[in-house]
Amino acid sequence: MSLTNRVIFPLFMLVVVGCSQSKFQLERPSAKESPPPPSSMPADWPFWWGVSSSSYQSEDAGSAAENLGFKTDWDLAAASGRLREPRGNATWSYTCTARDIAALRAMGITHYRFSIEWARVEPKPGEFNDAAIDHYAALARDLEAVGITPVVTLWHFTFPDWLSGESADSHGWLHPDFVARWEAYVRRMATSLAPWVRDFAPQNEPNSYTLGVLVNYFPPGGRASYGRYLRTYDIQAEAFRTAARIIREVRADARIISVQNIIHWEIDGFDFFQFWYKKGLEYNYYHLDKIADVCDWIGINYYCREIASPLALGLRGSRRGDHVSDMGWFIDADGLEIEIAALTARYGKPIVILENGIADETDEKRQRYLLEHILAIRRSILAGHDVRGYFHWSLIDNYEWADGYGPKFGLYRLDPETRAIIPKESADLYRLIITNGVMSEPLKPVAPDGAVESGPIAVPESRR
Ligand code: BGC
Repeated sequence: MSLTNRVIFPLFMLVVVGCSQSKFQLERPSAKESPPPPSSMPADWPFWWGVSSSSYQSEDAGSAAENLGFKTDWDLAAASGRLREPRGNATWSYTCTARDIAALRAMGITHYRFSIEWARVEPKPGEFNDAAIDHYAALARDLEAVGITPVVTLWHFTFPDWLSGESADSHGWLHPDFVARWEAYVRRMATSLAPWVRDFAPQNEPNSYTLGVLVNYFPPGGRASYGRYLRTYDIQAEAFRTAARIIREVRADARIISVQNIIHWEIDGFDFFQFWYKKGLEYNYYHLDKIADVCDWIGINYYCREIASPLALGLRGSRRGDHVSDMGWFIDADGLEIEIAALTARYGKPIVILENGIADETDEKRQRYLLEHILAIRRSILAGHDVRGYFHWSLIDNYEWADGYGPKFGLYRLDPETRAIIPKESADLYRLIITNGVMSEPLKPVAPDGAVESGPIAVPESRR
């Protein structure tokens, strides 16, 4: 992507977004009036140690006989030359599921989050591919068989090619057939997976996707529109609620988990009226506010702190140093602790960290990042917050969307010749953390004079 696409256009669009009005209410009176609820986390809760992945970022196409020539909207974007590089065979995770399960077991992982490729299971509207559906059901069953609980995402950024419209106004969520096809897809997958899967995440990060489309980072591209941006949010929220209803009809004890990208926003020194900061909070909460009531748990993907300013966002890729990832994202584990407190105060539901990770070629920053973020969660739990689990992103270095294969997020690296995956030191560190019971031990951090250091974080009224 050119500089225009990656910096100037996003900046321009953020300014347009900033100058527009949304219906977002920063303050929710009902939540403000009540104090954060007492933790509902059972004392003997077996903390979930997970890894997350997504289909498009890690799957190869599979055999031609089985895949029925499916295509996603990202394949269309790659074919039109819009992307830095096509996804190709990614990490071969469709074909090599046994290899991936062995790697999860080697680290002592208790939960694996993967997503379903909608285009693969429904390559033509209304025509489902039974072999592909059986593949995902077998993956869930095989994980269960070795003591790893599957957590399934039904949509992680990609649509079947047949939901690509003539323009961005009829693409994906906005396609005229979307609602009917989504209901059928959710019912079909929930029914096929229900024997092995209890934990469902209907959508991954509606907020980052919708912003990504607006600033032309994600397909379909084209003229940006803030009206379309808000319309997409509304349809996503309705679709989430529909999915929650259908999944519960299929499996009454299903756990419905939202997945939101949460950024720890920092107020920019020139943002005198906190205008951009409030836009940042809108990014964190707008979708969640519409769906939290139908969620059992609030799932968050937390990666970084960011300065709430279009300029800072546009230039983040140029930052270098120990305090940032290879993509220039600020590393800030304390920010995670603060966001957990804020989300607890706002929604009063159990929280699970469904993604946390870092683009780091060297693997050195990743080890520090892993430890610091897990310690932040431990502090949150000790302070009384209900945090049920931690999932690292991701198992293997994978396809980082419009950034291609440059950023390395994996605990493992791939040998493309042999398709073998090789653990990095961080994979071994993660195994040590998991096997040493860091979340289950009732230790309290104690200051030299014997006082207990941890305590609840004060959440400003405006964040509740
Ligand atoms: C997304 C992943 C992505 C990761 C790192 C998350 O927001 O869910 O698909 O690879 O961030 O950018």
